[in-house]
Amino acid sequence: MPELPEVEALAAFLRENAVGRVVARVDLAGLQALKTFDPPLSALAGLEVTGAARHGKFLDLDVSGLHLVVHLARAGWLHWRTGLPAAPPKPGKGPLALRVHLDDGNGFDLTEQGTRKGLAVHVVRSPAEVPGVARLGPDALEVDRDTFARLMAGRSGQLKGALTDQTVLAGIGNAYSDEILHTARLSPFKMADKLTDDEVLRLHDAVRATLTDALQRQVGQRAATLKGEKRSGLQVHARTGLPCPVCGDTVREVSFADTSLQYCPTCQTGGKPLADRRMSKLLR
Ligand SMILES: [Zn+2]
Repeated sequence: MPELPEVEALAAFLRENAVGRVVARVDLAGLQALKTFDPPLSALAGLEVTGAARHGKFLDLDVSGLHLVVHLARAGWLHWRTGLPAAPPKPGKGPLALRVHLDDGNGFDLTEQGTRKGLAVHVVRSPAEVPGVARLGPDALEVDRDTFARLMAGRSGQLKGALTDQTVLAGIGNAYSDEILHTARLSPFKMADKLTDDEVLRLHDAVRATLTDALQRQVGQRAATLKGEKRSGLQVHARTGLPCPVCGDTVREVSFADTSLQYCPTCQTGGKPLADRRMSKLLR
């Protein structure tokens, strides 16, 4: 799932390659992806792309005051295309959800793999009209120490959930929350409102360091190479069974119904493995 660094890198890529071009046409191939009807998608045609920004994990293309706001969800991605075919795509087949043609013959595709479709496209006059954007907490890259401490103190629940709740803090998902908790040497199941002052500082520093490091590696990369760049920087996420690069212990996993988390017992839980959700309550 694209998180803050990937979406920021995509926005930077679009600022470089799409801003200044005029939208020639927008093809909707995955009907379920479009969540708004007024203004219509066709209203974008003939207008110049004037900016590209990020709100949490939402990508926002500013088209002369109209906004194409995209949430890529779990398996969505943006593919830059040079020399797009003129013929409109067949709706409903394959991963293509939306195609944006620019006036120079280039453009981009929004695609989504798999059968569970979550990719969402909105055409709005202001990004705040998108409910998910309106609900966002402060941006994870911009939140200062005091605000961060207040957010954690006001949250009764486990750290993993607090870091990934977009209404608390915007931009962090499953992968970077694993990485941040590993860097901060904190258990994913520790309660957010039970952190000591030192732990809050460590966690805030880890949020900054992890996201800044990922951003530095990714901004400037082409959309096609971003995913590989993300994977190469990970220390625990998606590395179950591999050695922790910090201490050499084996990275472990906790599975849930439709997701999982990874952590290092030596770095994060005093060497004790987290068996499952219920067991974890005994260990925190
Ligand atoms: Zn370790």
